[in-house]
Amino acid sequence: MSTAHRISDVADIRAFVGAGNAYFTLRNSATGGRVTYNVTREEDGTLTIRAFTGTENSDRRHYSYLGTVADGAYTYAGPRAAVAGLAAVAAETGDRWLAGFCASLAARNELTDRQKDVLRERCRKHGVVTAAVPFDDVRARGFAWFWRILNGGTFPATFEFWHEGRCAACARRLTVPQSIATGLGPDCADRLGIIRVTLPVAA
Ligand SMILES: [Zn+2]
Repeated sequence: MSTAHRISDVADIRAFVGAGNAYFTLRNSATGGRVTYNVTREEDGTLTIRAFTGTENSDRRHYSYLGTVADGAYTYAGPRAAVAGLAAVAAETGDRWLAGFCASLAARNELTDRQKDVLRERCRKHGVVTAAVPFDDVRARGFAWFWRILNGGTFPATFEFWHEGRCAACARRLTVPQSIATGLGPDCADRLGIIRVTLPVAA
């Protein structure tokens, strides 16, 4: 028996994604293409977005960092965000070399391999976390698209949102049919103040 469950209601999808520890798959029914994500909520309310890049989809270690959502805005942690992060470090520490390096990179549309190497090295040194998935990867593009549509667009008829039968807040296995329909266990739904929808969701 399959444990995958579909959520169709956009409000339910939004609640699921932001619940705290959500694992979900976006599927295009026309092509069969799918991408799987883990979204966790940090202490300060920021969401951390990871894309499934490994072999075990219930294990967060098999997911790669993509970026963050803060104040509703998704930022891919690519080179542009890395430069901005390092520029903030430079401003804080008064590191003039780093400030100059960031200014020269910010003025470019494309970075040389050497610049990318130095950028990576400086990010490591200063603790600026960068995405492990390239910008043009379907998993990176997929989340950017999903977040944009989720916040004001209309999903195409071929769009499908699936979860694997685990609570979006605590990742425990769901057993109650109504919980499976929305992807949140009864206790977590109460704690998050989410009003339960009693309509059955087509699978
Ligand atoms: Zn739960």
